[in-house]
Amino acid sequence: MTKLRLEGVSKRYETGTDETATSALQNVDLTVRDGEFFTLVGPSGCGKTTTLRTIAGFEEPTDGAVRFDGESMTGVPPEERDVGVVFQSYGLFPHMSVAENVGYGLRFRDPPNGVSVDERTEELLELVDLEGMSDRDPDQLSGGQQQRVALARALAPAPDLLLLDEPMSALDARLRESLRRQLTRIQSRLGITTVYVTHDQEEALAISDRLAVMNDGRIEQVASPQAIYREPETRFVAEFVGDNNVFEGSVVARDGDLCTVDIGGATVEIPAVPDGTGRVSFCVRAAALSTTVEDNRFSITIETSEFRGETVHAYGRWNGVPIVLQLEEVPDTEVRVGFAPENAHVLESA
Ligand code: ADP
Ligand code: MG
Repeated sequence: MTKLRLEGVSKRYETGTDETATSALQNVDLTVRDGEFFTLVGPSGCGKTTTLRTIAGFEEPTDGAVRFDGESMTGVPPEERDVGVVFQSYGLFPHMSVAENVGYGLRFRDPPNGVSVDERTEELLELVDLEGMSDRDPDQLSGGQQQRVALARALAPAPDLLLLDEPMSALDARLRESLRRQLTRIQSRLGITTVYVTHDQEEALAISDRLAVMNDGRIEQVASPQAIYREPETRFVAEFVGDNNVFEGSVVARDGDLCTVDIGGATVEIPAVPDGTGRVSFCVRAAALSTTVEDNRFSITIETSEFRGETVHAYGRWNGVPIVLQLEEVPDTEVRVGFAPENAHVLESA
């Protein structure tokens, strides 16, 4: 069932006194299902925060509409939208105790199920594993604990929708990983529909039921983590989600399930494309370019390599195309690699 819909949402910010305006969102369509963990991911400035603020009601769209359970939210102020919001800067009040900060989440709404504010606060602190911390001040907590207080505050009124804007980006990598496991556990226990914002593609793949990859105010693709990773539709998604090599070429022959593509300096075989296709773009994952595969071979000049534990990432170029390889050992400066035709994934648009 659809919980949240964005229909053709655009947002322009008027900047300065002249006619210039920043187009932060362009015709964004999104559907988030009831109980889903949905992520908006993309580089800095692509419009993630603007999308989240528009859902929360801190911004009104210039065009289009936001709907909760089918109902238009146009003109509905944030405090009447039944959303809990957690920002990157935790926004805790330093002069209030942990319990008072969580209780502040109940200023517009009574606790659910007829419990008292104190009981609800205790419930929430237990949920985020901070029982016994009620009387502390925020500055007596670690960054990860502070963020859990902010989460407890957002969840206190039992909102219908939880919105999180890069809540972990100020924390170190190890803490981020443990906090994200805690967050997914809490989310699935409560079954609360969640929209999560991050610029970190690895985090987005790890945490989400589905994700929307954003670029320059637009949605590039909405899909499950597996589909985004294995079947990117655009060059942007293929490159953003990481470790993909993107080639472009002209179809020169067709033979059943395969077609032959001239990529300028080599001809390779990839899965067949629709009749009439002339130019084609396709991607091959770093791990699928292998020194031992006999098909589609070509030589790469290696420029740098990085030790990654189990694997080595080697970077180089082939005919002007940047190449990333995932190997077991640090390679020589010239490496011959190949890829199986079925490991080429054709992009729908360049
Ligand atoms: P993200 O969260 O993905 O980094 P934002 O939604 O913050 O991106 O910003 C999207 C675009 O809108 C950027 O170009 C940003 O500079 C611009 N922008 C965001 N907020 C404002 C504002 N209040 N006034 C003018 N431009 C803004
Ligand atoms: Mg942002």
